[in-house]
Amino acid sequence: EVAYFGAGPAPLPTPVLEQGAKAFLNYENTGLGLAEISHRSPTANKILADTRAGLTTLLDIPSNYDILFMHGGGSGEFSAVVFNMVAVWVENRRRRAESELNGDSDKILERVRQEVRRDLRLDYLVTGSWSLKASQEAASLLEPIGKDLVNIALDARKDNGGKFGSIPPEENWKLSPRQRGQGIESAFVYYCDNETVDGVEFPSFPKSLDPGLQDELEKPLVVADMSSNFLSRRVDVSKYAVIFGGAQKNIGITDVTLVIVRKDILSTIPPPSFLHALGIWSPPAILNWAVVAKNNSLYNTMPIFSIWIAGQVMKSLLAFHGDSKLAGQEELSNAKAKIIYDILDANSSTYQVVPHTSVRSRMNICFRVCKGDAAIEKEFLDGAESRMLQGLKGHRSVGGIRISNYNAVSMTNVEKLAEYLKDFAKKH
Ligand code: PLP
Repeated sequence: EVAYFGAGPAPLPTPVLEQGAKAFLNYENTGLGLAEISHRSPTANKILADTRAGLTTLLDIPSNYDILFMHGGGSGEFSAVVFNMVAVWVENRRRRAESELNGDSDKILERVRQEVRRDLRLDYLVTGSWSLKASQEAASLLEPIGKDLVNIALDARKDNGGKFGSIPPEENWKLSPRQRGQGIESAFVYYCDNETVDGVEFPSFPKSLDPGLQDELEKPLVVADMSSNFLSRRVDVSKYAVIFGGAQKNIGITDVTLVIVRKDILSTIPPPSFLHALGIWSPPAILNWAVVAKNNSLYNTMPIFSIWIAGQVMKSLLAFHGDSKLAGQEELSNAKAKIIYDILDANSSTYQVVPHTSVRSRMNICFRVCKGDAAIEKEFLDGAESRMLQGLKGHRSVGGIRISNYNAVSMTNVEKLAEYLKDFAKKH
């Protein structure tokens, strides 16, 4: 009877949980549970292949992309993005220098050494706590190579009284030039599609990053964190170099991170020697996308049970929405979020939504009760608890209330919460 709206780990569809309990104990009558078998067994291989196939179907992933299962969560990918994409940038410069300097290895090394310090940039759009953390991780990793290599192309707090909650117009973003191999050049543009703590979601793919609108040579390599809105709407994967997300919100349980990466990026991640000669780290093996891809995501021991759960969640989405796939899920997610936002807006003296209307997240609905009055917000949470509505406390860094509306949150539970929101507003 508990209706849970926590921000993650989050609920799973009940049938997946029931099948999961069986599979944990005795998988397909083999006498062994899924956490008890080798990650190199044929069973494990089939689970990886099925889960990849489910994701490919749901997102229409083009054939020039690979799907990796990795360790380390979203936070691990904050580092992996920097390690791998800087290595790709360096390798592209090395190839160019090699062709221009007739293979003179000392000159090549010297030229790329200068270029790294002078030209390398990593662009971050900071729209909330998670993209901020990712940009800070990048700055920390790059510190030994050079300062100011991280370009904060957008800090959304600046136009919003020091707080997250808006995405300023694209003409105000300060993206680095992308000139393919010369001058200052960004290795990638990074953004977080849905900011879980702050309730800010990009309404759509940013126009200024859209390859279709730009000269092919200036096409930015776009990296997106979709940890908290993965599989909640359609995504044109072909616009991205890399998409990643931890599984524990919309895809399954914790322990596995999904990475969708373009194959030409994988084939440009160089072996360590040139990077080492420049004094730059080579990506650590378990964060090295090329190593993980080459080993079919089995470079080291992977949590097969978690990957199986993710596969079952994908299967259940496909079964539920049929041919409409993620268009169906998008409609449902929008409808559930609208029910809540409509009540909040209709009772605006009781409830104040934190983010601006145009960037409100459909997944994490953040608001204050009576302008953040601590006693009334506590009363709100206690009253919800008494109706078995749980997980509503906002993130400790921002306070307030947060309703997480992930895929497995049922319409029935949204309606129960809607009733409570209305009843509480009548009292205040
Ligand atoms: N990115 C986003 C958008 C998140 O919501 C989270 C966690 O909640 C993370 C990254 C970090 O994920 P993890 O805890 O798997 O490292």
